[in-house]
Amino acid sequence: MECIKIKTSKRNELIDITSEIQAIVSKSKIKEGICVVYCPHTTAGITINENADPDVKSDILNRLGAIVPENENYSHSEGNSDAHIKSALIGNNQTLIVSDGKLQLGSWGGIFFSEFDGPRQRQVLVQLIKQ
Ligand code: ZN
Repeated sequence: MECIKIKTSKRNELIDITSEIQAIVSKSKIKEGICVVYCPHTTAGITINENADPDVKSDILNRLGAIVPENENYSHSEGNSDAHIKSALIGNNQTLIVSDGKLQLGSWGGIFFSEFDGPRQRQVLVQLIKQ
């Protein structure tokens, strides 16, 4: 297992970690297999989406904020229920196909660490399974 450390700088933020994940795949020399990317935090997540136009990131964050407002009548006493709900919606892991030593993401796909309760020090766990 490999671990990537991420320092987030905003409360809500999508951070492209595609190159870090691909570097782990390349270092492993695995040509065909599966790459599991897992976020061990309950107020963050992992998503795959377009990394060409940065407006896609801001649209996702803005719409999530509209669906799940920060200040509602939530029960959770820690005061970050919106972050837990966004994490549940986005999900905390992704499974990727590795072929010819490359993550198969399509033309515009990128892997994003999704921060919903930053800024914080975070980590992402990566496990590779060789075919
Ligand atoms: Zn909490």
